[in-house]
Amino acid sequence: MPPRSEGRDLVVSRNLPLKPYTTFKIGGPARFFIPAASIDQVRFGVAFAGKQKLPFFILGGGSNILVSDRGFAGKVLHPVFHGIWPALENARTVTLEVNAGETWDDVVRYAVENGLWGIENLSHIPGQAGAALVQNIGAYGQQASDVVQSAEVVEIATAETRVLSASDCEFGYRRSIFNTNARGHFIIVRLTLRLAKHGRPQLDYPDVRAYFQERGTSQPSLSEIRQAIISIRDRKFPFPREERGGNAGSFFKNLLLLDAEYQALHEKIQRNFPPRELARLEEVR
Ligand SMILES: Cc1cc2nc3c(=O)[nH]c(=O)nc-3n(C[C@H](O)[C@H](O)[C@H](O)COP(=O)(O)OP(=O)(O)OC[C@H]3O[C@@H](n4cnc5c(N)ncnc54)[C@H](O)[C@@H]3O)c2cc1C
Repeated sequence: MPPRSEGRDLVVSRNLPLKPYTTFKIGGPARFFIPAASIDQVRFGVAFAGKQKLPFFILGGGSNILVSDRGFAGKVLHPVFHGIWPALENARTVTLEVNAGETWDDVVRYAVENGLWGIENLSHIPGQAGAALVQNIGAYGQQASDVVQSAEVVEIATAETRVLSASDCEFGYRRSIFNTNARGHFIIVRLTLRLAKHGRPQLDYPDVRAYFQERGTSQPSLSEIRQAIISIRDRKFPFPREERGGNAGSFFKNLLLLDAEYQALHEKIQRNFPPRELARLEEVR
């Protein structure tokens, strides 16, 4: 069981409105709201929630949830422990440890500022680092699973910690065990990311390619790539911030086609539409 001293420090609020904790800026009160300031507090919070048999929810940055105006008649556990630090280094890579409550975009900024490649195209995705593994966040040709080595989790049934390897997490396109077969079983409390000291810019997405073509840059630096992604994203929708109003972001998934399906679509477009439509299909392939 979690140490009692840590547990005594746990602050539990009653009937706390969730509205400020979501990017929609919508949502009624949580019956109990537990900000967890350490892994031990997560374990204690889980044990506390288990005793009362109330519904339990883990709230990260609230950028992928919609809370009813009626609120949530259960316990909300919200990781608030931050921290990013290098754990291992060799000639080619640096392994970072990141606490779940860290803001994902601060992890990207840390990596870019320290010359580490692998997550720069994931700039300005809202939310916490822990939640980034739940749907295996992705954008502009990169996804979290490209760099995740392992995840430390608290098992909700036992309040014990475990380490899951990347393959245990079964990452796929916007999926992992955390939003499929082990949904509601684990709280991600820490991630291990392996980033490269030397990388190759991934500029395959049309928006990113066009951005650098316009500027005549073929080998952008890490910080130029981060800046490009931020600028492209912010043109589409603003990055959610405290001082701004609600923001739903984007909820769509890209279409995934098998080779045969792609060929069939290609033939249909070739038969029925002008050549520029075929060029657009080939561009997004
Ligand atoms: C403007 C905008 C742009 C976006 N752009 C992208 C994008 O480009 N690519 C992309 O992939 N997504 C995007 N998203 C979606 C969102 O940013 C991601 O899904 C993000 O990872 C959610 O993180 P969060 O901390 O806000 O999670 P929350 O919304 O708080 O929670 C999401 C889910 O994860 C669970 N969860 C949260 N933390 C943990 C934890 N520590 N352990 C276990 N479960 C947990 C919650 O219970 C919930 O089921 C965007 C959203 C917005 C609003």
